[in-house]
Amino acid sequence: MIKEVKVKTALSPSKLPGLEYALNPYRGCEHACVYCYAPSVIHWDKEKGEWGELVEAKVNLPRILSKELRVKKKGVAGLGTVTDPYQPAEKKYEITRRCLELLLLHDFPVCIQTKSSLVLRDMDLLKKFTNIEVGITLTTLDDSARVKMEPGASTVEERLRTLEELSKNGINTWVFLGPVMPYITDVDTLVDSIAKVKPKYVLVDKLRLKEGVWEKVRGFIAEFKPELLADYERIFLREEDYYTEVFEKVLRGCEEKGVRCEVNRFGD
Ligand code: SF4
Repeated sequence: MIKEVKVKTALSPSKLPGLEYALNPYRGCEHACVYCYAPSVIHWDKEKGEWGELVEAKVNLPRILSKELRVKKKGVAGLGTVTDPYQPAEKKYEITRRCLELLLLHDFPVCIQTKSSLVLRDMDLLKKFTNIEVGITLTTLDDSARVKMEPGASTVEERLRTLEELSKNGINTWVFLGPVMPYITDVDTLVDSIAKVKPKYVLVDKLRLKEGVWEKVRGFIAEFKPELLADYERIFLREEDYYTEVFEKVLRGCEEKGVRCEVNRFGD
């Protein structure tokens, strides 16, 4: 369900590395990823429903942004720092597109992160920016796992094609490889596929069990791969190290293929 809401501010200061501002056209996210911790970041009220069931579309955001851009100091605006700016609601509302038009008018640098091929719709605008990067999130190459983990997002194939198309059109791309889901994220083959689409860099991240995430991940594992439950409990409840070796593998794999890669330390 989509609810239209009005907001008073558009750009908020961002603490994320490389970003001065955060801009989120939607509150709530139809992609409904099992590992999503945005509900704890924005203090999602459960009375509104489960994450993914309701999305608030900030319909007056472009108008507010337009005013703010006249007075704010130029800085990198992160589009979709909390929720996906190209989730299905964007097809109808085009709030992200209108925000991009305004950011372009003021020549603001922009960094987008999404799991949706809908970003290709805005190629005409993306191509005109002096400074823009588009990041696509990938967690697995196995679409049967993807459909359970990220039910509302684009397929793996669509995301790889999106990266390819963006690169072909001269847009800087990056990949958010994460969260790495133990024994589900096929790290070696994923790095191979990522290297083929030549992103500017890769950021790899672990699963972050913020409030409410463990229950959802546990439910997903119990249904999708119950044989992994004991491993997940070992890693996440008894905190046995899993990621050191996996991250080394990703870093090594990327280095061998000439792709810059970093481990995300933000939020540690
Ligand atoms: S796309 Fe991002 S914001 Fe949306 S549900 Fe998935 S993790 Fe959460």
